[in-house]
Amino acid sequence: MDFTQAPVHTLGRSLKQRYGRRLRRVMLDLGLTCPNRDGASGYGGCIYCDLSGSGTGAAKRSESLEQQWQEGLARARKVNPEGQAAIIYFQSYSNTYPDLRPLANALEQMKSWSEVAPILTIGTRPDCFSAEAADLLAAQLPYFKEVWVEFGLETADDAVQKIIGRHDTLANFHSACERAGERGLQRIAHCIAGLPGEKENGLLRQVQEVAKVNCEGIKFHQLMVLHKTKLAKMWLDGKITLLSAEEYTTKIADALEYLPPHIIVHRLVAEAPAESYLAPKPWPGRQKVHSNIEQELLRRGTHQGARLSCCP
Ligand code: SF4
Repeated sequence: MDFTQAPVHTLGRSLKQRYGRRLRRVMLDLGLTCPNRDGASGYGGCIYCDLSGSGTGAAKRSESLEQQWQEGLARARKVNPEGQAAIIYFQSYSNTYPDLRPLANALEQMKSWSEVAPILTIGTRPDCFSAEAADLLAAQLPYFKEVWVEFGLETADDAVQKIIGRHDTLANFHSACERAGERGLQRIAHCIAGLPGEKENGLLRQVQEVAKVNCEGIKFHQLMVLHKTKLAKMWLDGKITLLSAEEYTTKIADALEYLPPHIIVHRLVAEAPAESYLAPKPWPGRQKVHSNIEQELLRRGTHQGARLSCCP
C-alpha cells in the first residue's frame, strides 16, 4: 500500500487495485438465529443487537434469496452496469448456526452468481465456526475468487463480553481465525469502539489481537444505540456514555496507527437506518466521519501502521 496517496488501506482502494473497480455488497438474510438469542449461550442477544440480528430483516419479510439478490444486484449495477459488480454478503445473525444446512443450500444457489460476484462473505460468531463450517466455506473456493469470513471480535476483554451479554471469548476468536486461515479463507474482524466497561486502550488491544491472528481485514464500528435493544434502555436510564464523533475520530486514528499496513480496512464507521437509530447524536454521517478520520491522520502526518515499531 502506497501511503503517499492515502493514509488508510481501505477496501475501496484495495478492490480498485485488484479488480479495477469497486464492488458493492449485496446483503442476504437467511433468517437464521444466534446462540446468544435462542439460549444456547444466552437469551435476548447482545445489548446492542436489534431484532433483525444486525441485518436487513429480509427473511422476516418473506423475501426469497433470489429476490434479495436481484434487488441488491440492481443497486450494484448502478455503479457497474457491466461485468463484476457485487460481493455476496451473508450478514444477519450467525450464518453457521444452528446447523449448516440452510447455508449449504444457499451456497449451491450462489455458485451461478459468482461471475458477477467474485467475492463471498459470511458473517458469524467465533464460537459458531466449527471445522465443518470451515470446510463448507473452503469448498466454495473453486467457485469464488475470494471467500471471506467475518468474525465478531467486538472486544479483546472477556470481562466486557459479559457486560455486553455476548458470551463469546477471545480464545474462541483465535481458534476460529486459525481454522479459517488453515483453509485459505480470509478473515475479517469486527471491532467496536466505546463499549461499556471497555478500558481506555480497549480498541488498541483489539487491533493487536487482529494483527496477532493474521486477519486480512478489519471493520471498525462505533457503539450505536438502536431501538428495541437492551442498550436503548440503558441509554434512556442514563447508564452509559457514548463516544462523540470527535472522540471516535481520535480513537480510530490512534488505532489505525498501530494496524499493520497490509490489513484491509473494510469499514471505518457504521451507519444504521434512520428509523431504528437513537444515538449518538449529533452524528455527522458515515462519509463525513470517514473523511474526518483520514484528515486526522494527514494532519498528524501519519498513516495506517505508522506507529508499529512502538508499543501502545
Ligand atoms: S452475536 Fe450477533 S446476532 Fe447474536 S445477538 Fe450478538 S450481535 Fe446479535
